[in-house]
Amino acid sequence: MTSPDAIVIGSGPNGLAAAVTLARAGVSVRVYERENTIGGGSRTSEVTLPGFRHDICSAVHPMAYASSFFQQFGLVDRLDFVTPELAYGHPLDGGRAGLAWRSLERTVEGLGTDGRAWHQLFAPLSEHADAVAQFTASSMFRVPKHPFTLARFGLRALEQGSPLWNARWREDLAPALLTGVLAHTIRPLPGFAPTAAGLVLASYAHAYGWPIPVGGSQGIVDVMAADVVAHGGEIVTGSEVTSLRELPPSRAVLFDTSARGLERIAGNRLPAGYRRRLARFSYGNAVAKVDFALSGPVPWTNPELAHTGTLHLGGTRAEIARAERDVARGRHPENPYVLVSQPSSFDPTRAPEGKHTLWAYTHVPRGSRIDRTEAITRQIERFAPGFRDLILASASKTAVDYEQYNPNYIGGDISAGDVDLMQLLARPVLAAQPWRTPLEGVYLCSSSTPPGPGVHGLPGWNAALLALHDVFGMTAPPSLAPDTVPEP
Ligand SMILES: Cc1cc2nc3c(=O)[nH]c(=O)nc-3n(C[C@H](O)[C@H](O)[C@H](O)COP(=O)(O)OP(=O)(O)OC[C@H]3O[C@@H](n4cnc5c(N)ncnc54)[C@H](O)[C@@H]3O)c2cc1C
Repeated sequence: MTSPDAIVIGSGPNGLAAAVTLARAGVSVRVYERENTIGGGSRTSEVTLPGFRHDICSAVHPMAYASSFFQQFGLVDRLDFVTPELAYGHPLDGGRAGLAWRSLERTVEGLGTDGRAWHQLFAPLSEHADAVAQFTASSMFRVPKHPFTLARFGLRALEQGSPLWNARWREDLAPALLTGVLAHTIRPLPGFAPTAAGLVLASYAHAYGWPIPVGGSQGIVDVMAADVVAHGGEIVTGSEVTSLRELPPSRAVLFDTSARGLERIAGNRLPAGYRRRLARFSYGNAVAKVDFALSGPVPWTNPELAHTGTLHLGGTRAEIARAERDVARGRHPENPYVLVSQPSSFDPTRAPEGKHTLWAYTHVPRGSRIDRTEAITRQIERFAPGFRDLILASASKTAVDYEQYNPNYIGGDISAGDVDLMQLLARPVLAAQPWRTPLEGVYLCSSSTPPGPGVHGLPGWNAALLALHDVFGMTAPPSLAPDTVPEP
């Protein structure tokens, strides 16, 4: 093998976004991936029974349309997505459910007295979703192009992230519906950082919907990998990098690892002060997940929930806040918050005819070894009695299993670093260009850098553009558009 100009360690969505960007700029690039398959948090496989295709990590992709990297790359032109009209739903006891339709108006109609408050919260954000995407796409130290939307967003995040978060609401359905999204970030509620992240996702639900890739999340990384290869890049799987010394000579190395992985692999080649700053970057709480193969659709008490892509279970706002507080205190909640996706209701390729897959995870303390299959099953039964009888098989992963599956998920923290206010600003260190390390030609491009977790490719894109500028003297970003793919 000849030596490449640039090396990427890790083939998650961000590593591949970096590799696409470099390859499209004409830089020869090689990706090393420790697993035998590519994809990091965007893999799909048959982990229960033959013919049942499960997303092992990410399942739902609000950023498929919103990410400026994916817009440039033309993701939705290269891969089919289904976008359920009902983005997410939130059952309460007794058969009531909050429903977040892609249509803001339809959502408002279903929320009774609180419909107006929901409209006031989201109309200014979802109508300017491109502006929301712009200021949440990069480091906090860029001058915002849309200061008014930023101000509206900030005020709303302050309100719903503070102890005043109930002041706007009169009933229980709308705040429960919102809390389901705010709880995605594994943090105690109310809090500014989880609220900011949740408001972005909830705004995208009304602007673009929450799309699901046909065939599974694997398709996203497969089209990125195909683009890398089509532009002369190489991907080497089954090859873990443990030290910079193992790598062939190259002009740039981009790490799709956690900040801790960078610290470990680059070791004392990094200045001691920077290593200390990386060591201070903290990791958050974790997830435990179950994939179910089912003999039929989930019998939700509220029949509208059958048409929902994503569901948030756990009950009222107060119940979910209690569950998240338990996790923050190192406990496994009795009545946990559970995220559910039911892709086979929209994509028949996921399961044999008439059968279904169900993706469900809950939050647990970091380092947990506890299998949460029973707790998750009970929470689904609460809102869908009879669910248990449909289970043909299940496959569970504890928090510790996740770290073994992917060392970026330290202790099962799927964000590769806690998402609190400090670490929104300093990710992993306080710097205008946090993707650049003090070691010449070395960059961090994973979700340990801004804008953080999610399948959007933005850290990889930002890091690769910096490398192109610093190392290869290129100032204009390369075109990533699909029509520039050369004929094979
Ligand atoms: C259970 C779960 C559910 C999720 N749900 C969603 C969702 O629905 N929507 C969404 O947008 N996001 C979701 N996420 C988050 C999303 O998957 C991640 O934020 C995203 O994958 C991060 O991308 P990345 O490229 O930074 O890192 P990763 O995807 O973690 O990829 C890193 C890659 O680097 C490899 N690697 C690490 N160290 C080395 C090494 N030393 N040598 C070689 N290779 C190495 C790993 O094997 C891995 O393949 C979920 C994550 C999990 C775990």
